[in-house]
Amino acid sequence: MEHPLFIYNTLTKKLEQFIPLHSPFVGLYVCGPTVYGDPHLGHARPAVIFDVLYRYLTHLGYKVRYVRNITDVGHLENDADHGEDKIAKKARLEQLEPMEVVQYYTDRYHYFMDKMSVKRPSIEPRASGHILEQQEWVQRIIEKGLAYEVNGSVYFDVEKYSKKHHYGKLSGRKLEDLYATTRELEGQEEKRNPYDFALWKKAAPEHIMRWRSPWGEGFPGWHLECSVMSTKYLGEVFDIHGGGMDLLFPHHECEIAQSVATIGKDSVRYWMHNNLITINGQKMGKSLGNFITLDELFSGNNKLLTKAFHPVVVRFFILQAQYRSTLDFSNDALIAAEKGYLRLMEAYTNLQKIKTSDNDSPINFQTFEKNCYAALNDDLNTPIVLAQFFELVKIINSAYQQNEVLSKKDIEYIKNLYHIFIFEILGLEPINKEANNELLEKVIDILLNERIIAKEKKDYETSDRIRQKLNSIGIEIKDTKNGTEWKIS
Ligand code: ZN
Repeated sequence: MEHPLFIYNTLTKKLEQFIPLHSPFVGLYVCGPTVYGDPHLGHARPAVIFDVLYRYLTHLGYKVRYVRNITDVGHLENDADHGEDKIAKKARLEQLEPMEVVQYYTDRYHYFMDKMSVKRPSIEPRASGHILEQQEWVQRIIEKGLAYEVNGSVYFDVEKYSKKHHYGKLSGRKLEDLYATTRELEGQEEKRNPYDFALWKKAAPEHIMRWRSPWGEGFPGWHLECSVMSTKYLGEVFDIHGGGMDLLFPHHECEIAQSVATIGKDSVRYWMHNNLITINGQKMGKSLGNFITLDELFSGNNKLLTKAFHPVVVRFFILQAQYRSTLDFSNDALIAAEKGYLRLMEAYTNLQKIKTSDNDSPINFQTFEKNCYAALNDDLNTPIVLAQFFELVKIINSAYQQNEVLSKKDIEYIKNLYHIFIFEILGLEPINKEANNELLEKVIDILLNERIIAKEKKDYETSDRIRQKLNSIGIEIKDTKNGTEWKIS
C-alpha cells in the first residue's frame, strides 16, 4: 500500500501499522448508543471520529463492513450489574412500551447523526434481536467453567479466569486494586467476588424486558451483546473495535474476557478509543448542570450557549482536536470553530473567482496533499489536515484579494484537494444546505405565483403545465381556500 496507515492500539499502547486480516476487507465495530435519552454532545465525538475512520479506510480502497450496535436492553443504571434497566426505567416513567422508547431515541439518534453528516453503518444490530446468540455464549462460558449460576443469574468468574489469563490487560487495572475499589452494592451478594460481572440477569417480577432461558426468565448482561454481535457479523477475529474511553473499563475489558473464554482468543486486533469531551473544563453530567443535548446545541436553546450552532460546525469543532486528546467544549470555542469553518468554505468559493493563466505557479501544491495523507496516516491527525488547509486558505485569499493569477492546473488541483480531504474524508459539507432550502422555497413561490397569474387569465394550459412540471420533479401542489400549498413528495 502506498500510504501505510498507523493507528494507536489501546491494547498494546503503541502506534501500529494497520494491516487488515483479510485485505481488502476490513471489519470495524463501534459501540453505539444506549437509546434511552436524547443524543448529547458525548455521542457526537465517537460518531464523528469513527465516521472519519470509516470514510478514510473506504477512501484508501478497503471494503469496510461497519457494524455499530444499538443497546436496547441490559444496560443497567450506573453501568453496574445493579439497578433498573435504563430503557425500562424511561418506559416506566413515561408509561410507554420499552420498544417505543427504543424506536423514538434510535430515530432521534439517526436524525442528529444525519445532520452531522455521519454515515450510517453497514449493519446496526440490536441487543434484543440477538438473545439466542447471547444465551449460547453464556452456555459456552459455563461449559468452559468460567461462569457460574446463582438464583437464575449467571456471572463471569473473573478470579478463575485470571488464573490463566490477564483480566485488566486493556485498562491496566489490577485485580487486587479492583477488589479494594469495587463497591459491594446491595443485591450483589450473590457474586463470588465484587468484580465478577453479569452475563445473564434474572428478571425481577416487575421487569418488563424478559426472555426464557435455561436459567429462568431474564435478560442478557450489557457487555455480552458487543462480543456476540461483533463476532457474528465480522468473524471470530476482526480488525478494529472502537468506542469512547469511558467504555474501556469495564465494558471492553469484559468483552475481551468473554471472547477469550468462549473462542479461546482475543477477537479484536486493534482497539481504538476516543477521548472525552469536557465542558468548560468539567466532565459533562446532568448533576453538574452542564449537560448539552444535540438538539439544544443546534437550536441554541441552552443557558451555556449564546446562539445556535450548525451541525457541520460542531463536526468541524470535533475534528480540530486529535481524537485521543481531550476536547474542551465552550460557547467561545464553538464561535471560534464557526469562524474557522466559514473561512475554510469561503476560500473554496473564492477559488472559483481567481484569475487563471496557463503558466505554472511557483508554489508546489503537491506537498499539501502529501502532508494531509501523512497526518491521516499518523493516527488520524485531523487537526494537522485542517492546519494544512488553512495554509492553503492564506494562499487562495491572497491571490483573490491581490488580483493575482494562479494556473488553471493549480486551481483544479486545489479544488480536488478540497474534494478529497474536506468533503469526502472529513465529511465537511461544501455548501450551506439551509441557505439552499431557502432559495428553493423562493423559486417555488415564484413559479406558484406565475401559476396564479395564468389561472386568473384563464390560461389553464400554462397553469397545468407548471403543476405537471413540478409534479414530475417530486413537488406536489395542492390548492386550498388559503392559497396554494406545496410539499416534496
Ligand atoms: Zn459495546
